Amino acid sequence: MDCKDLVEKLYFYLDGEVLTEEERKAIEEHLELCRKCCERYEFERLLWEMVRYNGRNDSVPEALISRIESVIAQF
Ligand SMILES: [Zn+2]
Repeated sequence: MDCKDLVEKLYFYLDGEVLTEEERKAIEEHLELCRKCCERYEFERLLWEMVRYNGRNDSVPEALISRIESVIAQF
């Protein structure tokens, strides 16, 4: 799996859907080896959590917002 593959599958991975066991493993292995994708994954995961909070009309926790801001600051 290369970085492009990973980005394409990242949302499926976050959703916990569609992927086979093998694909999930390939993603996890890539995330461990590739710092760039790992950072991207962390960023997407935080955004995804925030979207989920918004969908429930709950207020987004301050801690989550500040984590997102600190990840964005690293780019
Ligand atoms: Zn990568």
